[in-house]
Amino acid sequence: MSRPQQISVLGATGSIGLSTLDVIARHPERYQAFALSGFTRLSELLALCVRHAPRFAVVPQAAAARSLQDDLRAAGLSTRVLVGEEGLCQVAADPEVDAVMAAIVGAAGLRPTLAAVEAGKKILLANKEALVMSGALFMQAVRKSGSVLLPIDSEHNAIFQCMPADFARGLSSVGVRRILLTASGGPFRQTPMAELAHVSPDQACAHPNWSMGRKISVDSASMMNKGLELIEACWLFDAKPSQVEVVIHPQSVIHSLVDYVDGSVLAQLGNPDMRTPISNALAWPERIDSGVPPLDLFAVARLDFQAPDEERFPCLRLARQAAEAGNSAPAMLNAANEVAVAAFLDGRVRYLEIASIIEETLNLEPVVAVDDLEAVFTADAKARLLAEQWLSRHGR
Ligand code: NDP
Ligand code: MG
Repeated sequence: MSRPQQISVLGATGSIGLSTLDVIARHPERYQAFALSGFTRLSELLALCVRHAPRFAVVPQAAAARSLQDDLRAAGLSTRVLVGEEGLCQVAADPEVDAVMAAIVGAAGLRPTLAAVEAGKKILLANKEALVMSGALFMQAVRKSGSVLLPIDSEHNAIFQCMPADFARGLSSVGVRRILLTASGGPFRQTPMAELAHVSPDQACAHPNWSMGRKISVDSASMMNKGLELIEACWLFDAKPSQVEVVIHPQSVIHSLVDYVDGSVLAQLGNPDMRTPISNALAWPERIDSGVPPLDLFAVARLDFQAPDEERFPCLRLARQAAEAGNSAPAMLNAANEVAVAAFLDGRVRYLEIASIIEETLNLEPVVAVDDLEAVFTADAKARLLAEQWLSRHGR
């Protein structure tokens, strides 16, 4: 029997990382955790190492690495601890690695994910911010290295499953008319507008259907998540922004749809559990058990659809504008959003101010071409600075 596939899980201590390790543990004959990374939750990382015995663990600082290395040795493990972005890039590109789960949140995931792409790995892409920031360069690198890029985001995994059979082998999306990107509408879909001014981080993170990390939960509440996903879909499926329509579907059972020129509309359905797209991408083009219970359509009973309200969700409008502007605009949108959401989660800004920070940042800086990674990080840094200046101007 062949050896199990070696998987590096970047962001192992997060929500996607844990779901990935759950699936890996169900199939020890097929998959083995090669490397696990953590950032702040280092005791959880130790527990994961004890459970999965990876070859490498990655932490952000040298002191934390020494302490984890001691703990691992005491537990009788030979796992080697690496440090920082360099360590992440090393385990992403290691010749022994078959696939990389890119599940670090935010811009911090870009360089390690690109390292995996450049090494020609199979990429399981959860870290949508990486693709949003650097779309053209990222897809160019995928084509150059021949990397197989499989979407983990539930909507994009659904679209991928509804695409023509040979799409992933480099054939185009011939015959596709529109992509219908579903959105639950988050916790504030029906909250009276006057109350939105006072909602707390915990309310924003209480998603009705999905359990996720705090940053993406806030993005889901503001629908910036759907905006980032719109940009992500354009890159993954070679679509124009005008071909991607956002559809509010509060039950989160249909994970997205593809509309073909002959009038056929294909959808992928399932319980809202990330282990389905993770298993789909891990095993593609085969199918494996994910641990997700079968969908009970009688319990679901009905499926509703609504158009999104851009007045309620200005972040969706800002993201669509950035998608249309292209170039540096998506990287700036993403960076301003990261600063604004972190400040909201810290209690420094109010929910409605997230969109104001992003809009003012984008209005202050012209859109420029981004021909290399350096230009992407320059745009990212400029937007972070402008968003931070907004915070200090407003005494936060
Ligand atoms: P979490 O916040 O739960 O996990 C994020 C992971 O990234 C953790 O392992 C965290 O480490 C690590 N991390 C955070 N900051 C850094 C940094 N600066 N450098 C290195 N590592 C870092 O997020 P999710 O798992 O929810 O989301 C991960 C990604 O997947 C995001 O891009 C999100 O948009 C995407 N995604 C998530 C979905 C979900 O259902 N959760 C669905 C679709 C996409 P630590 O915890 O130790 O601090
Ligand atoms: Mg999603």
